[in-house]
Amino acid sequence: MKKLIRNVRIVDGGLITPGSLLIEDGKITGVLAPDAVVPDADAFEGDGLYASAGFIDTHTHGAGGADFMDGTTNAYKTACRMHLIHGTTTIIPTTLAASNEEIARSIEAFNEAKEELNRDQYVPGLHLEGPYFAMAMKGGQDPRYIRNPDPAEYRAFVENANGAILRWSIAPELPGAMEMGDYLCANGIIPTIGHTDATYDDVKEAIRHGYTHITHLYSCTSSIIRKGGFRILGVTESAYCFDALTVELIADGCHLPLELIRMIVKCKGVDRIALITDSLRPAGLDVTETTIGSSEYGRSVIIEDGVAKLPDRSAFAGSIATADRLVRTVWKKAGIPLTDTIRMMSENPAKIMHLDDRKGRLLPGKDADVVLFDEDVNVRDVFYMGRRVNA
Ligand SMILES: [Zn+2]
Repeated sequence: MKKLIRNVRIVDGGLITPGSLLIEDGKITGVLAPDAVVPDADAFEGDGLYASAGFIDTHTHGAGGADFMDGTTNAYKTACRMHLIHGTTTIIPTTLAASNEEIARSIEAFNEAKEELNRDQYVPGLHLEGPYFAMAMKGGQDPRYIRNPDPAEYRAFVENANGAILRWSIAPELPGAMEMGDYLCANGIIPTIGHTDATYDDVKEAIRHGYTHITHLYSCTSSIIRKGGFRILGVTESAYCFDALTVELIADGCHLPLELIRMIVKCKGVDRIALITDSLRPAGLDVTETTIGSSEYGRSVIIEDGVAKLPDRSAFAGSIATADRLVRTVWKKAGIPLTDTIRMMSENPAKIMHLDDRKGRLLPGKDADVVLFDEDVNVRDVFYMGRRVNA
């Protein structure tokens, strides 16, 4: 069955081009003129909306009232669905520092829900955020569970996960973290640098052990310090020093001021940035209180000024954003061109997570995951493998 998404402004590969997308068997097979007519295709009128490759969120904890740490198939379905209707066609559910039982339960629930989740959205695997972090850089992570890497423990997670782990955020300066990087790479898992007090030298060494990406730059990443008068760079500055590193940004407009977003784009370069929501349970809802972590063992946080905060307001606990808000913030508020914004929301995360053989672009041969949105980034239609899934 052929489908034609007609008359859209295609935002892809750094360009905006009026056109139509021809789709066959879930794949894009042609990019045609806006007024193209294909007699044997089912036509969908795009009415001049923007069309981009589906958004890819590689770091989110939940949405729609559900947290992936709830450890139920329903939580996975609810949260993924809420992100889907806001344009996220590829999603990487993320866990938190918690007891081994809780993390294992979340992984198990994912494996149970996986087949059903993947009908309407691409959910290739999980991001384990912690528990091997620097205590001083815990942010919203629960200090009761923060610890050093334990080979017996992380090997058991990988062996029992049945291939479900896609990426793992670790503080590379911790004892055993380099060895863990090697182990993860050997098992096809991407080690990423997060909640960390590492220095420039630690980062340089981490790159040799497979760490290629920095988890939410400026949120719990170390900065420059002075030791005996000499300055030592932290992870934040090292991000700019090493082209081998990519970074992700919580671009909800709260975690990073707009001028900092502009500075990062200017200095790091559009090519090496992915936008993430790092969203908590209330994303997509209008509430003032929520829980970070599981409904059973999590801790309560407050929501004000459009962001989740620890109750003492000492730090942010995560965002309440969906991907459309990230696009709106970066494009409309920070003033980054829409073409670059979409590269950071679709194309780059696909590359960083090694999903770019099928995802992240609107080119013939790629999966027909398409988001249609208007001038204010209101998501109007979402297609997954050529099928409209937001109805
Ligand atoms: Zn997170």
